[in-house]
Amino acid sequence: MRLVDTHCHLTFGPMSDHLRPVLDRARKANVDRIIVPSYDLDSWNQVEHVTEFEGVFCAYGLHPWVADQPLSRADLERVLERDKVVAIGEIGLDYKIPKYDRRRQKEVLRTQLDVAVEKGLPVILHCRGAFDDLLDVLASYNGDVKGVLHAFSRGPQLAQRFIDQGLSLGFGGAITRPGAIRCHESAKVVPLDRIVLETDAPSIGLDGVEPADVEPKHVLDIAESLASARDTDMVDIAQTTTCNAEKIFGL
Ligand SMILES: [Zn+2]
Repeated sequence: MRLVDTHCHLTFGPMSDHLRPVLDRARKANVDRIIVPSYDLDSWNQVEHVTEFEGVFCAYGLHPWVADQPLSRADLERVLERDKVVAIGEIGLDYKIPKYDRRRQKEVLRTQLDVAVEKGLPVILHCRGAFDDLLDVLASYNGDVKGVLHAFSRGPQLAQRFIDQGLSLGFGGAITRPGAIRCHESAKVVPLDRIVLETDAPSIGLDGVEPADVEPKHVLDIAESLASARDTDMVDIAQTTTCNAEKIFGL
């Protein structure tokens, strides 16, 4: 059995201070490939650094929380030429924090989606409180944008709208919480060939695990919770979600 953590910030503390043991523990839990998205412009070099480890891949992009940073399309295209790049991310829209200008967020998102479509790269999308706008932006690309809406914890109707746009959904820590009703409803009905697994460590906790303690090894727990939500076995979940990640990101 092999598992992939399709979204993990190995460049953030506390993991970044002891990467080797974190990766060893992941491998023992059958998580042998990890995708590390970037965040702000400074993180682009940190992300490149962690790809020196076996099984670690990366994505470059500008997160909506730092949409005020000067994103140059040429700079983005240049870093995408580096080794072990599998996506553009994480990028998206976040309207939960009012200080971020919505127009600027959309402009930055579109620039990056343009590059993704042109280069045939998948995207890793972050979205909070902006689902209608994100779906509108995606629809304007007529199905040409491929990739994953990460940290999906919402209900089946919203899941279906993203699936209809050709995207897959990243399930993470939320599925381990018995109280995450909408997430469980989605986990039951979303076609398994549209699901990938992720921890988003160290940003999202698991049932009984604080966010700061989450590591890629916890993909195993997420896979177990997904298996029990879907009333299937781990082998099925592992095989299909790993195959999905390989296809989407060309691993
Ligand atoms: Zn993230």
